[in-house]
Amino acid sequence: MDGVTRSIEAPVSQTLYDRAASVTPGGVNSPVRAFGAVGGTPRFMVSGEGPYLTDADGREYVDLVCSWGPMILGHSHPAVLDAVRAAVGRGTSFGTPTPGEVELAEEIVARIGPVERVRLVSSGTEATMSALRLARGFTGRAKVIKFAGCYHGHVDALLASAGSGVATFGLPDTPGVTGAQAGETLVLPYNDLGAVRAAFEAHPAEIACVITEAVPGNMGVVPPAPGFNAGLKELCRSHGALLISDEVMTGFRISRQGWYGVEGVEADLLTFGKVMGGGFPAAAFGGRADVMDKLAPSGPVYQAGTLSGNPVATAAGLAQLRLLDDAAYATLDATAARLREAAGAALAEAGVAHRVSAAGNMFSVFFTDAEVTDFASAKAQETHRYTAFFHTMLERGVYLPPSAFEAWFVSTAHDERALERIFEALPAAARAAAAAEVPA
Ligand SMILES: *Cc1c(COP(=O)(O)O)cnc(C)c1O
Repeated sequence: MDGVTRSIEAPVSQTLYDRAASVTPGGVNSPVRAFGAVGGTPRFMVSGEGPYLTDADGREYVDLVCSWGPMILGHSHPAVLDAVRAAVGRGTSFGTPTPGEVELAEEIVARIGPVERVRLVSSGTEATMSALRLARGFTGRAKVIKFAGCYHGHVDALLASAGSGVATFGLPDTPGVTGAQAGETLVLPYNDLGAVRAAFEAHPAEIACVITEAVPGNMGVVPPAPGFNAGLKELCRSHGALLISDEVMTGFRISRQGWYGVEGVEADLLTFGKVMGGGFPAAAFGGRADVMDKLAPSGPVYQAGTLSGNPVATAAGLAQLRLLDDAAYATLDATAARLREAAGAALAEAGVAHRVSAAGNMFSVFFTDAEVTDFASAKAQETHRYTAFFHTMLERGVYLPPSAFEAWFVSTAHDERALERIFEALPAAARAAAAAEVPA
């Protein structure tokens, strides 16, 4: 390993991890949770309250992952729990339309201008997969443009990465994704409108859509350059393609209207998840009525789900969204700003090369001096310093994302006491980052 102290014992978590590894691949149900990028024992959490998580060994952490975004009001928010208890009391799934689905759809349509119709699904992956199929069905075209470093869930066609360069066909990045599934995917560098223009010119009338994260948060946070999203919209419009803005992470996180509320670029289709489910599996895709009406049963593009619009999930999502007013976003923005400042100051004090990169209340720290504008520059950071930083924070009771390429998330429950604990931990973590050596 890399000499980072891993002395804090987590014996119960370690036992659970060993048991898990013999019945579940890698011991986890989603890969990053396994701490593969940072090493050490993944903490098995047993409860959450406000800004805190408690692990199976009884240790408490200030949570800066917030379930990767959804827990924007903190854990076990009383209003969300009440809504869930009330919904569960009425039954958990009917396989019929329910009133809650109408209310949640109305809430989303009322908030987000370009969403005239919305369909509920159960995960962000399902939302982007369905939006992609719909864009292809609507345009009658096969090719899609995505950007290197953007993550849209584990949709086969969208797992293709940048291996083969600008305007060339993406190759399957993952065994199990065939050339046929990835072969219609063009992977381009993020923030490079020229590459998008060239791809449209090279493939006239073949490109169904461009899909982009509204703000990429899955290579660390890399904000769109001014005019980038608007430029995508214009290129799509002039070439008869659709723009899909993936707001699974940013939707209802950055503002009441997500990133759309900040930039106002009208995508043809948008995808949502994370915050809108209130900690349950609920997600959605929506957009222009003429496009959405191509979906079954009003149109020919098939899409369905046994648990879509689940009444417990929709109740949790609605309860959470109703509490997310402008004051809540002001609180989130202020909390995130204080954390960014404190992290930046501690790293500067310790002499660690870094960039704090932000979009609204979403942010991450890159361990590099150079500007980060795309996946290549994000990957140029010194990840071994993050490993040391992460473990020192963990030992001091702060739970950061176990990867240098993930956003940090705050909630409205992060109060002075929680922030103090983070501020107290930062100087030692920054010194550990400074002292970290490249693993042999
Ligand atoms: C998390 C995420 C997804 C996938 O959502 P799941 O619910 O994990 O399937 C898709 N797009 C973006 C931008 C995300 O952050």
